[in-house]
Amino acid sequence: MDRNKIYKFYKMFFALIGAVCMILALVQLAFEIKSEFIPGYQKGPDKVKHKVLFLSSYDPMYYTYKDQIRGIEDGLYSNDIEFDICYMDTKIYGSDMDIDEFYKYFSKRYNNDVMHYEAILLGDDAALKFALEHQEELFKGLPMVFFGINSLDLAKQAEANPMMTGFYELDYFADTFEEAITLFPEKKKLYAICDTSPAGKADLEKFLSYRGRYPEYDFHAITSTELEPTAILEALKKVPEDAIFFFMTCYDDRNGERHSLFETTSLIVNNVKAPIFRPYAEGREYGVLGGTYMDFTVQTRNAAEIIAEVLNNGADISTYELSLYTPSITQYNYMVLKLYGLSENLLPKDTIYINKPESFVEVYKNMLPVAVLIIVSMLSFMGSLLMAFEQEKQNVIALKASKAQLVNSQIKLIYQAEHDDLLGLLNRRAIVDNLNSTLTTDQEFTVIMLDLDGFKDINENYGHDVGDNLLKDIAKALRKFAEKNGMTLGRYGGDEFIMFAEGKILNKESPLVDDIMNIFSKPLSIGSGNVVMSASVGISNSDGETPPEQHVINAEIAMYEAKNRGKNMVFIYEDDMKQKVIEESRIKDSFLKAFDNDGFYMKYQPKVSAQTKEVIGYEALVRLRDSKYGPGQFIPVIEKSGWTSRLGRLITKLVVKQLGEWQKMGKDIKPISINFSSRQINDTDYCKYLEALLKEYNVDPKYVQIEITESLLMEETTITKELFESFRNLGVILLLDDFGTGYSSLAYLTYVPVDDVKLDKSLVDTYLCEGKEDFIKDVIRLVHDMGKSITIEGVEQEWQYDKLREFNADTIQGYYFSPPLDPEEAIDFRAE
Ligand code: C2E
Ligand code: CA
Ligand code: CA
Repeated sequence: MDRNKIYKFYKMFFALIGAVCMILALVQLAFEIKSEFIPGYQKGPDKVKHKVLFLSSYDPMYYTYKDQIRGIEDGLYSNDIEFDICYMDTKIYGSDMDIDEFYKYFSKRYNNDVMHYEAILLGDDAALKFALEHQEELFKGLPMVFFGINSLDLAKQAEANPMMTGFYELDYFADTFEEAITLFPEKKKLYAICDTSPAGKADLEKFLSYRGRYPEYDFHAITSTELEPTAILEALKKVPEDAIFFFMTCYDDRNGERHSLFETTSLIVNNVKAPIFRPYAEGREYGVLGGTYMDFTVQTRNAAEIIAEVLNNGADISTYELSLYTPSITQYNYMVLKLYGLSENLLPKDTIYINKPESFVEVYKNMLPVAVLIIVSMLSFMGSLLMAFEQEKQNVIALKASKAQLVNSQIKLIYQAEHDDLLGLLNRRAIVDNLNSTLTTDQEFTVIMLDLDGFKDINENYGHDVGDNLLKDIAKALRKFAEKNGMTLGRYGGDEFIMFAEGKILNKESPLVDDIMNIFSKPLSIGSGNVVMSASVGISNSDGETPPEQHVINAEIAMYEAKNRGKNMVFIYEDDMKQKVIEESRIKDSFLKAFDNDGFYMKYQPKVSAQTKEVIGYEALVRLRDSKYGPGQFIPVIEKSGWTSRLGRLITKLVVKQLGEWQKMGKDIKPISINFSSRQINDTDYCKYLEALLKEYNVDPKYVQIEITESLLMEETTITKELFESFRNLGVILLLDDFGTGYSSLAYLTYVPVDDVKLDKSLVDTYLCEGKEDFIKDVIRLVHDMGKSITIEGVEQEWQYDKLREFNADTIQGYYFSPPLDPEEAIDFRAE
């Protein structure tokens, strides 16, 4: 598993735990809140099956009452039994007369015929006595369970009754006494207060009974019923601090006035300086220290459960024995205990403390699970969040990595886009961009364009690998040069390089230009041998107005000019070069169109016999339809662009076709000479083509002549020889055009296979004048001596014609007779 997945897993895991804990916490909280708002709510019986009467000896103010009721409710309600309570209130109305009155009241009100009780609970001695006395009359056949009986005799007597069973009220004074002398072992004075009620008397008896066992203690009794309230107060105040005070059964004073537990407790607590013990429930909340007493709730619950067994399950009441044991409760006021600086360790382990400041855990023990759940939930959510964060961090790292990769490949891409793969130089687009962003129009700078001469041949002759290596060597040398001179270098094309530099203006004499040319003068190794390369260089310098990018074009133009002028040279760009280039491109446009649209047509300039003025032939001169450009302009461009051969064949076809047409028309046709460019030399099948045309149009080869130039003769190779031979074999006459403009060596005329020499117009213009005419005359004679005829071109004036005829020239071609004519004019042309 990768880290990301682990984080994801834990993120989900913690989130789940968090959610579950949160739900549990909320459920628990809802439950707690509910029970908080219905505190101590005692559910009644679900459906009432039986009805019971609880006959209480006392009234609800009696100290045992609350505990007793709690136990009864527990025991009865859970068994679907409801109960009524009848109070005998014997603490106040306890005389025989009172009991008689109660009997009257009870037999009227609680008459079982009316109330239909099924069982009786009897609380304390008075109630039990009453039940025993009136069983026959009031409770006949009803099972009865008693509790809180102080008189063992009475309890035993009742137990003998088959319809009765119950619980003896255990006395836990002994425990309380033990606790008191353990907590205060140095206090030897013991005080007790009680009244003279049966319970009070019994208490006093118990208290004093310890005298024998503890002779070192002083025993003092305060009997409330023997004292006036003021005397009671006096007596209480007199209780010394180093005493132990027992608060026993005590409700009445001498005046027969009955005091509530609260009243008596307050009186005692406020006036007695000694620690106060009490072997009964209640009183501790008002300042009594504590003591042990019987657990009435347990006793009454057990009593109630016997009733339930009898009523619900048909148990036989007579089989239950008198219960003599009921557990006790030891309860102390924690604050008071601490007031005396006492430790809890001195008291039994199961002691219940009231007023004990509860620890946080105790106060919130119900809330604890909620809190724990919420904390766990929060921690889980935090864990989940942490994991999410870690995961995100992981993602960010991954993202950064892939971004870095992206940036890397971007850089590579940019490098690749900007650099030339082979040479590692900036490529064309990059160098031009670089130049445009570096240079400004008004700055001084120079742009240099270099093109290797004859690199194509290297590639063709040695293969591309050799060519590539050569380029690498040159690029290396150029880079070195550029670095040394603060120039920026790039590859402009296959074998073209471009450089530029700020703050430099170069001319042909600049040492830097020499340095550039010298780079190429060193021999470079190719495969097994060496080669010396050269370059044509064009330079364009800033002029303060031409934008930098235009200088790239200008440098290129200059470079082409260098190439055209013979290669291995430097040309500095000048404006007319540009004009020329623009013009050339226009020319190119028009002749390309002409190729496609039949845009070439022929004019025929008559050649006239100097002696007879007879038309002896024509020169075919090509024209561009609907164009201002004449052949002097477009022919060089066509030749430069490599279309020469195509044009050559086209013209030839037009001429042969014309001859064929004239012939068909029955015209008296004459030979037509066709200009053959030295560039057509590569069209090796030209002769075959011509031959085929002649056949096609049924024209005799003697009607076609070919005008060649000196340059073609100069390159005498096997190719030219073969060419001349094939013309001759075909029966085509060759003419030497433009004689006198080029090498003008009469020597080669001895071996060139031409029949006619055409003297160029420039010679006529230069030499056919007073004092120089002999030169023309000599040339004519020399040509004749070599067995060739001579044609004079560009004859415009009559006197020129006259002279030439006089000099024995053979043929005249010139405006004097006629300019080049359209075919229909030409064929019928007659010289005057
Ligand atoms: P070129 O072969 O020397 O052709 C003779 C040129 O001189 C022609 O110009 C012609 O019109 C011109 N010319 C003839 N008589 C006179 C005259 O009395 N005075 C003046 N000023 N000029 C005269 P064009 O037709 O403009 O041709 C110019 C050049 O173009 C030709 O020179 C030739 O080199 C080339 N050219 C023309 N037509 C063709 C062609 O069909 N094929 C090839 N390869 N080149 C051609
Ligand atoms: Ca010509
Ligand atoms: Ca010519």
